[in-house]
Amino acid sequence: MDYVTFPNLEPFSELTHGMFSRLGGASKPPYHESNFRLDSNDDPAAVRETYRRAGMALGFSESRLVAGKQVHGNEVRVVGKADAGIFWRERPLCDGFVTNVKNLPLGVFGADCQPILLYDPVTSAIGAVHAGWRGTVAQIVTEAVQTMQTEYGSCAEHLRVAIGPHIHSCCYEVSEDVASQLGQIGPYVSLSSCVEQELKSLGVREENVHISPICTRCEHTRFWSHRAVAGGERGVCLAVIMLKEERK
Ligand SMILES: [Zn+2]
Repeated sequence: MDYVTFPNLEPFSELTHGMFSRLGGASKPPYHESNFRLDSNDDPAAVRETYRRAGMALGFSESRLVAGKQVHGNEVRVVGKADAGIFWRERPLCDGFVTNVKNLPLGVFGADCQPILLYDPVTSAIGAVHAGWRGTVAQIVTEAVQTMQTEYGSCAEHLRVAIGPHIHSCCYEVSEDVASQLGQIGPYVSLSSCVEQELKSLGVREENVHISPICTRCEHTRFWSHRAVAGGERGVCLAVIMLKEERK
């Protein structure tokens, strides 16, 4: 399985994290090779097998995955032990999760949108958020940070935040309306610069934020890109973060 990790999360041995590309999974065309999208016309057995391989690669149990059916909103759910595997049972309509429970993998999907992973090494809390332009405008990242503050006592200045591969301003042409909602001058806009500003205003330190240089539209042969397939059938990539169980 092909995946990328983020330099500001890599130093923490108590974490496992990564974003899987579209290479190395079990799906056949047009979803080849990795597709993490359940509501597609892909073979469900192939999708499940890709999840299994992803779990093997990063060291998480895919059957325990916490993820939702993403709706481009700003709701962030606090999840615990009882939510293990909620992705396979219920798929809550929600774009973000936070937890301080170990061995509970949090996942978000992307095919141009931003997958954002958060970690507080002081309180050992994590978060995963999906933010396209709607979620960015709705400030889902602020929701995630504030939820970690109220639930776990996290301080913004301790947070590490990684914005994974997504569509960059080289390829992200939007309408005047969308540009103005993002507070930018179009037609080419940057989602991550909005999030970067937002994090800064919340008190997250600049050096603790990593923005992946990978543009999913430019590198659409490696990552799923909604824009690159232009309405055709496509899969999604998966980003995961998990606190590992301590070895006894
Ligand atoms: Zn690009």
